[in-house]
Formats: sequence, C-alpha cells, structure tokens
Amino acid sequence: MDCIFCKIASKEISTSLVYEDDQVVAFRDNDPQAPTHILIIPREHISTINEFNDSHSGLISHMMLTATQIARELDIADDGYRLVWNCNLKGGQAVFHIHLHLLGGREMKWPPG
Ligand code: 5GP
Repeated sequence: MDCIFCKIASKEISTSLVYEDDQVVAFRDNDPQAPTHILIIPREHISTINEFNDSHSGLISHMMLTATQIARELDIADDGYRLVWNCNLKGGQAVFHIHLHLLGGREMKWPPG
C-alpha cells in the first residue's frame, strides 16, 4: 500500500520522530500550523476514524494518552493545546492514515476554520 504515514511508521521515510512504541509513532508535522505541531499515528493502517469500532478502544485511548504525555514533555500542557482528528475531505483530512494532531505554543481560535 502506498501510504506516506505507513512509510514513516516503518522508517522507510525518515522524519522528526518525537515518540514511538509498539502501537504508535509521533513525529513533527512538516508544515506546522503552530509552534508545536505533532502528529500521533497508529502503526496499523486505518484510513479514517469512521473505521473505528470497539476493537480500537485501547488504541484510541493510547493515542490520546500519548498526546497528553507529549504535551507535558514539550511543556505546552499548562498553557494549553488542541487535539484534532480530521475526518474525510470536508473534515480537512488530506492523508488517509488516521492521525491525531497535537497543536500548541500559540493561542487557538474558536471556531476552527
Ligand atoms: P490532515 O489534513 O490529513 O488532517 O493532516 C495531514 C498532516 O500531515 C498535514 O498537517 C501535513 O502537513 C502533514 N504531512 C503530510 N505529509 C507529511 C510528511 O511526509 N511528513 C510529515 N512530517 N508530515 C506530513
């Protein structure tokens, strides 16, 4: 499968890695929308969050906990940050391997565009 995030997870393509374990990989977005912009992805290829089912509950929890842990480690937790899942084209999804955006280091606007 020709998936850029699968290639990042398998290290076929190098990137600015922040964290990895047996389930997830976290790396810096190459077009950051905030001073801190990290993507947390599962090693498993899942195209959109519409595919989530009960079997993914452990993975979803792990992705969220990974994001909050990285936020603490990068020292953006106390000021505040945003976690974003984009789903499908109208939701702003461009890469069809699910990823959780962790954005911080600046004040966020509401509503998001
Ligand atoms: P989406 O719009 O699908 O929610 O977000 C995809 C994100 O992946 C974008 O913020 C984009 O900048 C980032 N991205 C796309 N390709 C690459 C890549 O090859 N390396 C890295 N580090 N980020 C990427």
